[in-house]
Amino acid sequence: PQVARLVASRVLDVPDFPKPGVVFKDLMPLFADGAVFREVIDGIVAYHGRESFDAVAGIEARGFVIAAAIAYATGVGVVPVRKAGKLPRATHSASYALEYGEATLEVHQDAFTAGHRVLVVDDVLATGGTAEATLDLVERAGGTVSGFTVLMELAFLKGRERLAPRPVHALLTV
Ligand code: IMP
Repeated sequence: PQVARLVASRVLDVPDFPKPGVVFKDLMPLFADGAVFREVIDGIVAYHGRESFDAVAGIEARGFVIAAAIAYATGVGVVPVRKAGKLPRATHSASYALEYGEATLEVHQDAFTAGHRVLVVDDVLATGGTAEATLDLVERAGGTVSGFTVLMELAFLKGRERLAPRPVHALLTV
């Protein structure tokens, strides 16, 4: 549909970033275009509906940008899921494997009201490792994941399968 074409029109392919052989999808041009950014956020809100979640969790750092806009548009709160060592109070922590090495994400232990339905937001879904770790964190912090929403899904990396049966919405799938 139209919003998928809009996303596609504002992505830059960056070869060999962050390492040789990887083509990085850079969505900064989408964030920088005010009209497109607004249309994208409105598209996400229209898809999920205002009643389907009680909080938004944004994954550091590009997820923060999208999550904050969704939260503002819907009147719910936004919770940052951060890289290790950034949050000041007691956290839950989840580590997951990267192609080389490991990454750790954290969330404050009191970040969610018990039973709140949480929409998890990021820019790109690749292998799903980041989203899966976030799912674990939200649940340990007392929330329920209502679904995942991303601007772009790299389908060949099968992140969606890893998150099944939870719903994953991508504005653009490549
Ligand atoms: P995954 O854990 O393999 O699904 O990778 C997703 C995470 O890495 C997200 O936080 C994305 O922001 C980031 N990421 C992975 N590949 C890309 C890309 O091509 N462009 C932008 N971000 C990416």
